[in-house]
Amino acid sequence: MRRTMVAGNWKMNGNQVSVAGLLDGVVEGLGKSGDIDVVICPPFVYLPMVAEKLSSHEMLAWGGQNLDTHASGAYTGEIAGPMLRDFGCRFVIVGHSERRSHYGESDLIVAEKAAAALECGLTPIVCMGETLEEREADQTEEVVGRQLDAVVVCLGSEALEHMVIAYEPVWAIGTGLTATPEQAQAVHAFIRQRLSASHARAAEGMQILYGGSVKPGNASALFSQPDIDGGLIGGAALDADDFLGICKAG
Ligand code: PEP
Repeated sequence: MRRTMVAGNWKMNGNQVSVAGLLDGVVEGLGKSGDIDVVICPPFVYLPMVAEKLSSHEMLAWGGQNLDTHASGAYTGEIAGPMLRDFGCRFVIVGHSERRSHYGESDLIVAEKAAAALECGLTPIVCMGETLEEREADQTEEVVGRQLDAVVVCLGSEALEHMVIAYEPVWAIGTGLTATPEQAQAVHAFIRQRLSASHARAAEGMQILYGGSVKPGNASALFSQPDIDGGLIGGAALDADDFLGICKAG
């Protein structure tokens, strides 16, 4: 049985006061342990505070929103996987659609970032999804299949045992437009089936998260689909009550 995972992507939001309040609210609401895994991904500068406040809660983990493909060196302004590990991160988001569209990250770069994460012991949460134009042109499986294959080809099938996938239709991120449970389930099933051609056992155990305007009111319908194992949450992760409501739907 796959455990439900709820990951919060705070994007570039917050300050020391709001981050402290949000963390306190989440910690208090979740309690010490439970049957879901919760991952908080704050902006890098708040990782020390997140590590300090979450470290005694076994169901809570934290991660970066991005990493560089290199482990160290002359890459001004970048953050390396080993640095994230240094602050207790277990996860890192790679290939978020905002990285792909605003920073030109190709399928290959995303795959290399996933490889860099695995290399230093981080679990990459590899994001993929189609734009509205691609969905309307009936290209969803083609696009998601291509994004998925780039990772499998670059990393090899064994690596599938150590990663998480997030299906995030670009048209649903931050728009208030959520994929219906049926639409999301269809793509999740497609992803699992495609992975099973490379590594059947890893595909069966793979946590495939849905992201795109998940709210407390729609989370349980999404999470109850057989191939949806949790969510990657953006806007609603910035409000402790909303995030807790989503966690409880898991
Ligand atoms: C995201 O940023 O990954 C995301 C899913 O955002 P939102 O929940 O706001 O759509």
